[in-house]
Amino acid sequence: MYYRRLGNTGLLVSEIGFGTIPVLQGDIPVLPAYFDLDEAQALAVMEHALHLGCNLYDTAIVPEYGDAELKLGKFAARAGRDKIIISDKARFFGGSEMYQAVETSRENLGTTPDIYFVHQVDAAHEDEVFGRGGALDALADLKAEGKIRFAGIAAHYYDILLRGALDDRVDVLQGSGNLLERGMLDRIRGEACFRGKGFLVNKVYAAGLLPARFSEKTLIKFALSYPVSGVLIGLGTMAQVDAALGWDTRDPEPAVPDFDEVLSVLEKEYMPIPCDRCQRCACPHGTEIHTLFRQYQYFHLGKDYWALKKLGLGIAESARHCRECAQMPCMDACPHKIRIAQEMQRVERLVAEYAV
Ligand code: SF4
Ligand code: SF4
Repeated sequence: MYYRRLGNTGLLVSEIGFGTIPVLQGDIPVLPAYFDLDEAQALAVMEHALHLGCNLYDTAIVPEYGDAELKLGKFAARAGRDKIIISDKARFFGGSEMYQAVETSRENLGTTPDIYFVHQVDAAHEDEVFGRGGALDALADLKAEGKIRFAGIAAHYYDILLRGALDDRVDVLQGSGNLLERGMLDRIRGEACFRGKGFLVNKVYAAGLLPARFSEKTLIKFALSYPVSGVLIGLGTMAQVDAALGWDTRDPEPAVPDFDEVLSVLEKEYMPIPCDRCQRCACPHGTEIHTLFRQYQYFHLGKDYWALKKLGLGIAESARHCRECAQMPCMDACPHKIRIAQEMQRVERLVAEYAV
């Protein structure tokens, strides 16, 4: 295992960190059914990762990740608190709610989390989080009081991560990217302001969809080729731990495929939209183009029920706007020259065909 600096925190984290979603038990509507591990099983999987050099464990407040936070607290006590770095988070955007969430997490963990993220920050809550008295101010206070060591922003949106990179209260960022959805990582690589922050990459397996097409080594090696501190991989079995951690990330093999090569692998199964989720396109009607295209890809890659349900929520209106759109400003921004309006019709047809 190799270790990288976590921005300016002074921490050294394992290149491959442990995502705790798969060790959870509990009814989590937005998450698929995982392995339903009991406490002994969960701790054994976490311990196996520790033996392979993992020192970074990422979780979220109960019940966002079921009981995973409680299990991680027990694991920290068993492994030795100084042996691991705990990354925790909560989806609260106001200051007082976030302050209380951290107190709850500290009780659940039985210890002080090293990093605490505001989780899933989106455009609707961004100003509240960053504004006076918001969640980031609360994390800054908690840090000053010694109740967390470092503060973070976790988001799937480039503009929000960029705002975090420019904010002195933020020590660490957590964002998503993988072989297919690499556009945000490309942009982060090109922005010097990210270098002073720790950066952890999640969704490296694209919700578990890509390992059927590309090896775990390829997927992890790809994400580690960016100037990031490490990747977070959801792990729920010994075999998954071995596949993610039991190899040398400096091995020249396997080679990492470029974007066109990735598309040609997917073309054997369906006609992918060549969108890398760079998020440069903007729509005056508020259509979140990259999210709709993602759901189209995920439908074909295996998450059909989940993707259809999400697409059904807004595609008809988005496709209608596209049919009536004269200027199509979104297309000017797209580096892949995607005919966005036409692709939107394709997505609408897919929903019409498969939705029940
Ligand atoms: S074509 Fe027009 S309506 Fe459709 S996504 Fe682009 S900007 Fe929005
Ligand atoms: S449609 Fe184009 S601009 Fe928009 S996210 Fe995808 S690749 Fe980027």
